[in-house]
This record gives sequence, structure tokens and C-alpha cells, in this order.
Amino acid sequence: MSMQRATATMDADVLIVGTGAGGATTAAILAEAGLDVLLVEEGDWVEQGAVVPFSLDQMDRQYRSGGVTVALGMPSIAYTEGCCAGGGTEVNSGLYWRPPGELLARWREQFDISDFDPDDLLAIADEVEADISVSTVPGGHTSPSEVLRRGADALGWRNGEIPRWMKYPPSKLASEPRSAVGERQSMTRTYLPRAMKAGARLALRCRVDRLVTNAGSARSAVTTLGDGSRGEITFRDVFVCGGAIQSPALLQRSGIRGHIGRTLAVHPTVKLAARFADALNVPDDVPVHQVKEFAPHLSFGGSASNPGLVALALLDQWATFKHAITQWRNISVYYAAITSEGRGRVRSLPGLKDPLVTYGLTHRDRELLRSGLGRLALLMLEAGATDVYPSFKGAPVVRNRRDLATMQGAFTAARASVMTVHLCSTVPMGEIEGKCGADSFGRVHGCRNIYVNDASLLPTAPGVNPQASVMAVAIRNARRFLDAGGCRG
Ligand SMILES: Cc1cc2nc3c(=O)[nH]c(=O)nc-3n(C[C@H](O)[C@H](O)[C@H](O)COP(=O)(O)OP(=O)(O)OC[C@H]3O[C@@H](n4cnc5c(N)ncnc54)[C@H](O)[C@@H]3O)c2cc1C
Repeated sequence: MSMQRATATMDADVLIVGTGAGGATTAAILAEAGLDVLLVEEGDWVEQGAVVPFSLDQMDRQYRSGGVTVALGMPSIAYTEGCCAGGGTEVNSGLYWRPPGELLARWREQFDISDFDPDDLLAIADEVEADISVSTVPGGHTSPSEVLRRGADALGWRNGEIPRWMKYPPSKLASEPRSAVGERQSMTRTYLPRAMKAGARLALRCRVDRLVTNAGSARSAVTTLGDGSRGEITFRDVFVCGGAIQSPALLQRSGIRGHIGRTLAVHPTVKLAARFADALNVPDDVPVHQVKEFAPHLSFGGSASNPGLVALALLDQWATFKHAITQWRNISVYYAAITSEGRGRVRSLPGLKDPLVTYGLTHRDRELLRSGLGRLALLMLEAGATDVYPSFKGAPVVRNRRDLATMQGAFTAARASVMTVHLCSTVPMGEIEGKCGADSFGRVHGCRNIYVNDASLLPTAPGVNPQASVMAVAIRNARRFLDAGGCRG
């Protein structure tokens, strides 16, 4: 593998900024076609197993700003971004949802995306599923996952196991069940090694501060290296794949105007902690079941639940909930996620490294969060929870249906800890220039050789976990770049 130390001057035919779901796939496709590809990544390479999943150590080494980032608003929405080789794919839950066909068709119509055939994208999804070993858990499910199934079944709500990109070691004996502990097939295990095998170079701890642009073209990038020194990279074409917050911020820092950073779309979520009679907590894994009875508007699932994260879920009403932390082994954390009508903005500000991010929920979003939390609490009671602790200021403990009504009455979104891990749509793709930041294949409108190829391009938040949609779109666009004779201009 060709991992190189970032140096003051570097050069490539194609520069790819960022190594997450969009950048790693783009690099593999272009390098395998014989292009000279340089990938740069602001974070470090962290081997799986070197940090405990969901630990503070992981936050420190693999998340941007230690995982403490927020979109300001009423309420503000906490969000997290991966910042390491592999980006978000290294830290995420690995839950795989192929892009829904009807959503792809809607994107094509509403954003006027050319040659955007849902069947083509779903054929790419087939390839991705084989490449990253999308599979279900071979053995039984964990207790926190079973809670979702049990509660939903009792209510007659649609639910199921969501497959993950995971390889499970085979059992040594035919009679033995296969291990339910798998190895996540993130980008450092799949597309990054593939890209490097084909000759792509990867420079770590190298941040692209800005592209040097002139009349819609860029030929070089200004970088900051891990030791704080400055550098320069020259190239013929550049793919910006820094994720839905960093990509628009980089374009703005490079003086690129247009529809960039104005339509951030996320899946806002609210949480609760549920206590059961028996110990069930699994500190280093997440439930694989989701409840989709009210999808795409509303989905329920399980969150990471180590003791620190259980404490965080209880924090909003710590004065009355704090006693529960001693029982963390009997507690697991769950979320209700919505598709939001609201939108946010990403604005880079002179002199500041990080952009200002804002997000506004609509009245309908707030009401959906209220009904979502109420239904999730009901599901927990049906699954046998003895006590439910909703994550908002002034929340009561919910032990029965009467408490549920009290909880619904006390809830306002402004009092809740709203968060998200799905960030999309800041450079939406399509031919409508007033509505789209990039064309149908990711080239930034008004630019000749600057492309975006990550979650920023998804026209809206997809209503399902987005990584598969990001990968399918990125692979399609990278192939189109090759077909159009990319890099020969
Ligand atoms: C905690 C968490 C859980 C999630 N769970 C799931 C899940 O279960 N299923 C699912 O489908 N999705 C999940 N997601 C979302 C999924 O990870 C993202 O949709 C996906 O990773 C987005 O890919 P991307 O290429 O747009 O950006 P990213 O994967 O975020 O990669 C961007 C990379 O670019 C680097 N970068 C940014 N700016 C620069 C710069 N200027 N210079 C150099 N490098 C830069 C960043 O450091 C980062 O490594 C989750 C995300 C998180 C954070």
C-alpha cells in the first residue's frame, strides 16, 4: 500500500480531498482506470481494534473536534463527523440501506438530474454490497436489538434487522454457531486498500485549506500539514469529498459562489434511555433492528449505550434521573429519527478554521419529534421497560400509558437534546442552477475541473441511513468522469 508522508509540495493528475464513503470509492474507480490519484486526509489512519468503539479515545482520534460540533438553532442540533482515514465509515454503526428506488426517481425529477436511472444506481448498489460484505448477523441478536423487535411486534409495527457491512469469522466446527462479532468493512478495509493497490497515493494529516481558483478552474491547493507547516498540491482535476459540512466550507474558502452550503439536510433525532428488569446493556455495539412502521417520516432504532452515553441520555433531567446511572447495565438508549422539512446552512467565516453551521426545524419537524418520542416510549413499555427516561429538560419518568400523556404534554423540541449523524445536501446535484450546486455528475456549476463527490450531492436526506446512497452516487459519477475523458482536458 502506498501511504506517503504529506510533503510541502505534491502533484497528481487527480487530487481527492477526503477519504470517506465518497472519496475512497472515487479513488478506487479512478486509480483502477490508470489515473494518477493522490488522496489527502486531514485525520490519521487508525486500525480497527486500536480504539474501543464509542469510547472517548475514539472520539479524540477519529472524530472531528472530539465529536463536539453543533448546528446552531432553536434548538441547536449536535452533530458528529468522522475525521480519519475512511471518514465516517470508520466510526459509524455500519447499518446498510440501499437507496430507495422511488426516492432516486423523485430526485431525478425534482432536481433535473440527467442520466440518473434508478436501475443503474441499484446495479451499483449490488456491486457495493458484494464489495463491503453486506450481511446479517449469523447468530442471535443482542438483547437491546431484541427490545425493538419485541416492542414493535407487540404493537404490530413493521420492523426488521438491518444488514451491516461486516465480515463474520467462520466457526471452527460445523456444529458451532458463527460468531456474532464481526469486522466492520469500512473504507480502510475495502476501497482504500483497493485504490492504493491500483497505485493511488494517500497522504495523511494533510488538510486542504483552499483551492487556488481562477475563472472557474483550479490548478493547485494550499494545505496545512500535521506539523502546522504549509504546503501546495498541483493537479489537473480535483474531487472535493470532505463530507457535507467540510466540502461546501472548502469551496467557499476557495471563493466559489453559487448554490453552495445553503440547503443542509439532516435526520434530526431525539433519544430516551429505557430501563429493564434484567441486565441487557451492550457497551460496544449497537442494535441492528429498526422500526419502519412510520417511514420515511419517522424511524426508530438503538444507539450506542456505554455508561458514558447512558449518562449523557440522562443528563437533560439529571436532578431526577441521576439515580438510574448506577443501574446502567439494565439500561439501553434508543432514538426516534425524522425526515426534516427544515434546512440548514454552512458558512465559512474569514479567520476561522471551522464553518458556522445553522439549522432550522419547521413546526411540522417539532411535532414529528414529539410524536416520535411518544411512540418510541410506548414501544419501550410494550417491550417490557420498567422506566423510560426521555432526553429533554423537564421530562418525567414514564412507567405507564398515563405517564406517556404527561410526557407528550411536557415535550418541546427546544428543551430536547436533538442530534444527528446524517449530514447531506449542501451541494445538491442537478441541472437547476438556482437549486443545485453541482451538475448531474458532480461538477460544480460554473467550474471546469472542480467536482464534489460525497454526501453533499444527495439532493435531500434520504430517510434511510445514507452511506449506501453516497457510495452509489460517487461510483456513478467517477465512472462518468472516466467516460467523459476525465483528466485529458
Ligand atoms: C456516528 C455515525 C454513525 C453513522 N451511522 C451510519 C450507519 O449506520 N449507516 C449509514 O449508512 N450511515 C451512517 N452514518 C453516516 C455515514 O457515515 C456518512 O453518510 C458517510 O460517511 C458520508 O460520506 P462522505 O464521503 O460524504 O464523508 P465522510 O465519510 O465524513 O468523509 C469525509 C472525510 O474527509 C476529510 N476531510 C474533510 N475536509 C477535509 C480537508 N479540507 N482536507 C483533508 N481532508 C478533509 C474528513 O476528515 C473525513 O475523513 C453515520 C455517521 C456517523 C458520524
